[in-house]
Amino acid sequence: MSTETIVIVGGGQAGGWAAQTLRAEGYKGRVVLIGDEPHRPYERPPLSKAILSGDAHADTAYLQKPEAFDALGVDWRPNATAAAIDPTAKQVRLANGESVGYDKLILCTGGRARRLTIPGADLPGVHTLRNLQDAASLGAELVAGRRLLVIGGGWIGLEVAATARKKGMEVTVVEAMSRLCERTVPPGISSYLQRLHTSHGVRIELGAGVERLAVSANGLSATLSDGREIGCDTVLVGVGLIANDELAREAGLACDGGVCVDTQCRSSNPDILAAGDVAVWHSEWAGRRIRLESWQNAQEQGIAAARSALGTDVTHQPLPWFWSDQFDVNLQIYGMPALQHQVVVRGDPDSNAFVMFFLDGDHVMAALGPNSARDLRFARRLIERRTPVDPGQLADLQAALAKL
Ligand SMILES: Cc1cc2nc3c(=O)[nH]c(=O)nc-3n(C[C@H](O)[C@H](O)[C@H](O)COP(=O)(O)OP(=O)(O)OC[C@H]3O[C@@H](n4cnc5c(N)ncnc54)[C@H](O)[C@@H]3O)c2cc1C
Repeated sequence: MSTETIVIVGGGQAGGWAAQTLRAEGYKGRVVLIGDEPHRPYERPPLSKAILSGDAHADTAYLQKPEAFDALGVDWRPNATAAAIDPTAKQVRLANGESVGYDKLILCTGGRARRLTIPGADLPGVHTLRNLQDAASLGAELVAGRRLLVIGGGWIGLEVAATARKKGMEVTVVEAMSRLCERTVPPGISSYLQRLHTSHGVRIELGAGVERLAVSANGLSATLSDGREIGCDTVLVGVGLIANDELAREAGLACDGGVCVDTQCRSSNPDILAAGDVAVWHSEWAGRRIRLESWQNAQEQGIAAARSALGTDVTHQPLPWFWSDQFDVNLQIYGMPALQHQVVVRGDPDSNAFVMFFLDGDHVMAALGPNSARDLRFARRLIERRTPVDPGQLADLQAALAKL
């Protein structure tokens, strides 16, 4: 048996895929998986959807069944926090004082939910949502007839709003920017999301910050920047993610809002790689450095990092893909829509099924839309193959996308 050791820090989706891939690629050395949660690797998308609503059990989120995970022969360290990396001695120091040596180290530490610093941010009933424990405590408070205030109109906030509304709660979403999901989608999709939510009875307040949370006579009260008060029983703060890159920064690795890696997932130290929500790299599709918070990237980059650690020549340059489920809508995004792109709409943008294409000249750069998985699969091919298109044909419902 080889005495070589590959250490993975972070036992989430990317870390789980990295461990599984090392074995699938025939690696016979030691694999140490250090994770600060008590759980074996799991996927997070159901935390704001079926697991939050109670429709699915937490077990359904795990990457592998317990027997399959055990069969990987991984030295798994649950409830263990990596406190520091010594890149010279090639060791990871755990919070319990133990040191684990590595030949290659893969950082899959993801990120943590950003918290508010306003008065009342730590009151009971104020939640963030990142892990199974968060989903259990928030889920216990999603009760019909009670009032939920969502601070932040991004993906997690909107998914929780939809889940809570479906459970019969009174839901208000407060967003400081002038439109929903402003950071990730163009204005047309923000207004679509707003229509979707208001049509299901969610109250949306845009351009409004929450300045204070306080205990009131019948629950909690939020004071908005314009002085208005909103009463609620539970608050979900969904204001973004902070990459867990402190270990890397303190070890002197190049970081820029996450651990900078190349397309082989290598950091500025050739023996340390990174994957998933914590990794930043230059995306050819975006034309700039990006950090993707998506299921697809966590899986594909976890796999790529493991293969790269074994010396395989990989190129992690995925066309970004993200999906979100809200009410009866499955919204998917391929590529990175940008404000300078020409927008072509296929279908009725006032309906719950249409596709928006984003063009640079005669090339589709991105496509997104609700309940249009089939068309979007064809759109993906147009983007990846860089097929020149006629905008008129894209918009023409009689013209089959498959033929383009
Ligand atoms: C509620 C929710 C809903 C989502 N829905 C969607 C969706 O619908 N579609 C989509 O595409 N994406 C979705 N995502 C995003 C997707 O789940 C993430 O991109 C993915 O989980 C990232 O995987 P990761 O392994 O990089 O990080 P994580 O899964 O967060 O794993 C990182 C792990 O590392 C641990 N860790 C951190 N620091 C240390 C340390 N020092 N020592 C030991 N362990 C450490 C963390 O506790 C965690 O267990 C959602 C995310 C959330 C939170």
